[in-house]
Amino acid sequence: MPSLMIHRNDTVKVLTGADRGKTQRVLRVIPDKSAVLVEHVRVVKKTVSSKTGQNTRGGIAEQESPIHVSNVALVCPNCGIARVAMKKDGAMRVRYCKKCGQTLPTKK
Ligand SMILES: [Zn+2]
Repeated sequence: MPSLMIHRNDTVKVLTGADRGKTQRVLRVIPDKSAVLVEHVRVVKKTVSSKTGQNTRGGIAEQESPIHVSNVALVCPNCGIARVAMKKDGAMRVRYCKKCGQTLPTKK
């Protein structure tokens, strides 16, 4: 499985599409598709039908749809957009900003 440079809870900037320029948090990473779900980005409205016997109401639900990782850029706390690379730090592989050298922590 390819390991993605972008992790859950990272802050990314959207590079393409209608949400271009937005800086938002990554909600979920989908490694199989090299895609991420980004908060408030590519939101689609889904019609939810009410089901008899269940306590759900029909209506419209909003849900993010996945966006390819190549369409987002990690945000460096110092520089804004980061060109991120991996380096070895002892036994760990860490991400760092190529521009300022800042290590980007992996938030849990
Ligand atoms: Zn930086």
